[in-house]
Amino acid sequence: MRQRFSPDYYINGILTGDRLILSRAITLVESSRPDDQALAQQVLEGVLPHTGGSVRVGITGVPGVGKSTFIEAFGTYLTNVGHRLAVLAVDPSSQRSGGSLLGDKTRMETLSTNPNAYIRPSPASGALGGVAHRTRETMLLCEAAGFDVILVETVGVGQSETVVHGMVDFFLLLMLAGAGDELQGMKRGIMELADALCITKADGDNVANADRARVEYQNALHLFPPTDTGWFPPVLTGSALTGMGVADVWQTIQEHQTLTAQNGHRTQRRQQQQLSWFKGLLQQRLSQNFYARPGIADRLTALEEQIKNGTMLPSQAVDTLFTAIVP
Ligand code: GDP
Repeated sequence: MRQRFSPDYYINGILTGDRLILSRAITLVESSRPDDQALAQQVLEGVLPHTGGSVRVGITGVPGVGKSTFIEAFGTYLTNVGHRLAVLAVDPSSQRSGGSLLGDKTRMETLSTNPNAYIRPSPASGALGGVAHRTRETMLLCEAAGFDVILVETVGVGQSETVVHGMVDFFLLLMLAGAGDELQGMKRGIMELADALCITKADGDNVANADRARVEYQNALHLFPPTDTGWFPPVLTGSALTGMGVADVWQTIQEHQTLTAQNGHRTQRRQQQQLSWFKGLLQQRLSQNFYARPGIADRLTALEEQIKNGTMLPSQAVDTLFTAIVP
């Protein structure tokens, strides 16, 4: 049995930056038990006035692009210049296969022992929407605990990029030099979400390749329709091995933050994200409520049979179902 603590235990612990209590609060947020959820809500409401103060950065890239190595270098740089960093992950593979692409404990060894960094793997259960909801709440807890930069990492799998883009101020796409057209095609949708690209592993023999790729991607980005934020996504090169470019990434993020703070887009982006979080939750609740109504499951089974047989139109079936429960 997990020990029960009061909401104040969590709230005060988080606000004083106690990492153990922060971890316990995140476990509550991730729990699906109704009593844990109720307590988690009280804790979140208690810390809410202390949230929102961080720079929220999403990082993505295919497995092997160098995400964890980059986050080690980037995170170490950030803590060296006085920041406190939390690293969260959204990893849909962790539910599908039971094995996580991002949750591996051997990753980010240096950062995981850094007192100014906090690493939390992806919540391991539920659909992507549920994972995203928990990650957003975890982000708020980390902000209340004094972390001023939050990195949310995800892999090029499924819809996770869109989901992470929907919770951050800045979205960074890591790319490999020399990846074929096929990969670039696949990445197009994700490139459109990016606030900056960084070509990784720009060291040794790979420097010239990386520079070439930088020009190619910069040209490719020029073909995308401009956004109304006044920001044009730059393409950088970097090496986690030599540290080249790591400071430039942070510089770019700061420039983006300054610009979007001045022209109002940062606030607007966050407001839209809050609203879509709300709408997503509302939709989820409505749908759960609908399917939990007495008799719905049986009616559904019968209607599905008729739809399969072609004796009823799907739209007719929806009407039948709704007139049955909302006369
Ligand atoms: P992830 O799957 O995206 O998290 O990628 P990893 O960070 O695990 O890196 C994949 C491989 O690329 C590892 O073997 C790393 O050592 C290597 N790697 C990562 N960053 C660099 C870099 O900046 N330069 C070089 N040469 N290799 C790197």
